[in-house]
Amino acid sequence: MSDHMEEVIAVLKQVDDPELPSVSVFDLGMVHDIEIEKYQIKITMVPTFAGCPALDFIERDVKRAVEQLHWVEKCDVVFSFQYPWSTKAITDVGKERLKKHGIAPPPDQFKPGEAWTVYCPFCNSDYTSMENVFGPTACRSILYCMNCRNPFEAMKPVVAQV
Ligand SMILES: [Zn+2]
Repeated sequence: MSDHMEEVIAVLKQVDDPELPSVSVFDLGMVHDIEIEKYQIKITMVPTFAGCPALDFIERDVKRAVEQLHWVEKCDVVFSFQYPWSTKAITDVGKERLKKHGIAPPPDQFKPGEAWTVYCPFCNSDYTSMENVFGPTACRSILYCMNCRNPFEAMKPVVAQV
């Protein structure tokens, strides 16, 4: 991997998803491809949840951040709907960051249509209940931990549609 590539990835690890502060677009698994042509960069990203209308913000933030690298003249960001994103693409760092924000990360193993176990991000108990399936955004639900008595949010699992 080139130094420039490493620099771009380091920047992408600093760009947070507007809906999930402190979780970077990189750790959410949204970065599909990075092309570097001397001083021009093209980043192909995969949108996460269809219900999250933050793509314009993400595009702007990524472009702005990458163009702050002194050697970069131009950074284009394109969203591709061709590659399926799933919650499996979230990195371990991303999952830890979600927990710190009181959001239970999606399960690693999940079959569409089946219930999944949600572990409380505060105490790790699985003694939790679904309070509100709809939550603040289409991609999250509100749950309640019966063990530590905290309400928390859970990210819904998304399985790639092939
Ligand atoms: Zn708990």
